[in-house]
Amino acid sequence: MDTSRSQALFLRAQKHIPGGVNSPVRAFGSVGGTPRFIQKAQGVSVTDADGNSYTDYIGSWGPMLLGHNHPVIREAVIRAAQDGLSFGAATGRECQMAEKLCALVPSVEMVRLVNSGTEAVMSALRAARGYTGRDKIIKFAGCYHGHCDAMLVQAGSGLMTAGIPSSAGITQGCAQDTLTAPYNDLNAVRQIWEQNPGQIAAVILEPVAANMGVVPPKPGFLAGLRELCTQHGALLIFDEVITGFRLGLGGAQEYYGVKPDLTCFGKVIGAGMPVGAYGGRREVMEQIAPLGPVYQAGTLSGNPIAVAAGLAQLDILERDPSLYLTLEQRGRQLREGLRALLQTYSTPGAVQGEGSLSCLFFHPAPVSDYETAKQSDTARYARYFHYLLEHGIYLAPSQFEAIFLSAAHTPEHIDELLSRTEEFFRTL
Ligand SMILES: *Cc1c(COP(=O)(O)O)cnc(C)c1O
Repeated sequence: MDTSRSQALFLRAQKHIPGGVNSPVRAFGSVGGTPRFIQKAQGVSVTDADGNSYTDYIGSWGPMLLGHNHPVIREAVIRAAQDGLSFGAATGRECQMAEKLCALVPSVEMVRLVNSGTEAVMSALRAARGYTGRDKIIKFAGCYHGHCDAMLVQAGSGLMTAGIPSSAGITQGCAQDTLTAPYNDLNAVRQIWEQNPGQIAAVILEPVAANMGVVPPKPGFLAGLRELCTQHGALLIFDEVITGFRLGLGGAQEYYGVKPDLTCFGKVIGAGMPVGAYGGRREVMEQIAPLGPVYQAGTLSGNPIAVAAGLAQLDILERDPSLYLTLEQRGRQLREGLRALLQTYSTPGAVQGEGSLSCLFFHPAPVSDYETAKQSDTARYARYFHYLLEHGIYLAPSQFEAIFLSAAHTPEHIDELLSRTEEFFRTL
């Protein structure tokens, strides 16, 4: 496979862009090799600068639920662009988007549009602090909530330790208000609560963790958090930036039947354009400026082109909810196929997922938290990744990401992925 153009572009990019990329995972840091510079994408396929095509299982990290470059979404963007790129003023389309989000997502009564998932999370945390008048936030190790300061924090060795930043440039003050518990561990959350009485503003989590591989919530975990938050007057925030409109029209909250107070969105709601949103209970959202004292703003928020793209994608999903059944079937085909292969070849591994989110952990036992996920054989994953890439299949360049399916993936695509996986297992 000729990758000389990608190699040349990567060298050139590194001169003026840190690491040659505008978001770290793109640099292939954890699998090595040359990141492919992508020229174009269509349906399930992405094509790199050297003209190599791959069946894509990243889907731009989630937005491409209907496959790349869907004609209806592309048309909506072109039509919107003919009327101008940005007005910095309210538009009718934003009403449609807000009405749709409130109608489809069980807990959302009011919503504010922003430009990314990070912004959605940052703003939801501010709203929760403004509403409760408390400072501290509980998050879970291995959950990713974007790159805002308060969320780039891990607990130290014990739960009693104040948070230690997992990035340079984050102040102690910021870190100490973020408390971290292991995912799926209700007792740890109870313990944190006992140690910080009356100080917890909110608990935030990915209702299905999809940034440490894919780790579904154990039965009772989400409901237990709901109960704790209600009991202590704190807000439960679901970060549905990945699960929103992917697990179903009502997201993970509908899928599991647990209602958060606030929800963060991104990815699918922008269909590949920069859109995020946060919303929830009316009395909390009424704290947001200009109605209330919690300030949050954005020059390009509700951008007409981005909202047109998102609306077009949500329209398609709403008109044809059978798409979710299809996604579920494809996901099951993939997971059952991978499990069968692990067994046939006695390869240690755990296959996990929900709906169109799946993950093959090179770890001998099921993974329910970050500590366990981290023990996966990442060197083996790197070899698996490169074997597939060489054979025209593009998985995420990290063990700790999801395999994202889209409605454009057919049973034949999944079979192809399975048979290449089988070939790889034979090399072990
Ligand atoms: C991607 C992601 C974010 C951040 O969204 P950006 O648009 O990259 O800022 C936040 N939360 C979760 C769960 C995500 O997967």
